[in-house]
Amino acid sequence: MEQWILQWLGKEMGDCLAATVKSMPAIPVPPGSYEAGRNQYYSTRILKEMLKEVPEDAEKLLGVTDKDLCIPILTYVFGEAQLGGTAAVVSLARLRQEHYGLAPDRELFKERLRKECLHELGHTFGLIHCQSRECVMYLSNTVVDVDGKGRNFCRSCRMVVESQTGPGRAT
Ligand SMILES: [Zn+2]
Ligand SMILES: [Zn+2]
Repeated sequence: MEQWILQWLGKEMGDCLAATVKSMPAIPVPPGSYEAGRNQYYSTRILKEMLKEVPEDAEKLLGVTDKDLCIPILTYVFGEAQLGGTAAVVSLARLRQEHYGLAPDRELFKERLRKECLHELGHTFGLIHCQSRECVMYLSNTVVDVDGKGRNFCRSCRMVVESQTGPGRAT
C-alpha cells in the first residue's frame, strides 16, 4: 500500500482516540488465511495471527491490508475486530473507488478508511453496532452505508470509548 496511508492513519486515529499510536513493521498476511476458491482472505484467521504480534506496551493492534477480506458467511467484510479485545483488521480493497470501476478519489478513500478503522477499533472497546446513522458504529454492509453514516462516535458510544482511553479512564 502507499506509504502515506499508515502515517496519515496513525495520526488520525491518535487524534480521534486521544491515544499514542506507533506503527509496526509489516507482518506478512498469514498464508493460512487465503481461500483460493474465493481469492480472498479470512479476516478471523488474520486476527488470530495478529494476536501473536501484539507489542507488550500496546493496548490495541490495528492491522490494515490491501487484501480483500471475508468471513465464511459473508461475501466480503470491510474489517473485523475482536469484540472487547485487542486486535482489529481493516481492508483497503473495497474502500477505493477503483474497486467499483470509478476514478480514484483520495479524500473519499481517507474518509472511508477513517470511519472503518474507528468502527473496528470501537468494537475492540466493546461497542456493538449502533442504531444511530450519525454514529460511526452504525452497521455498514456496503460502501454506500459507509459514506452515509457519521464519521465519529455518537455521545453514548463515545462515553464507552473514553472510559477506556481518556484521562478519567477506569483502571
Ligand atoms: Zn461492525
Ligand atoms: Zn453510537
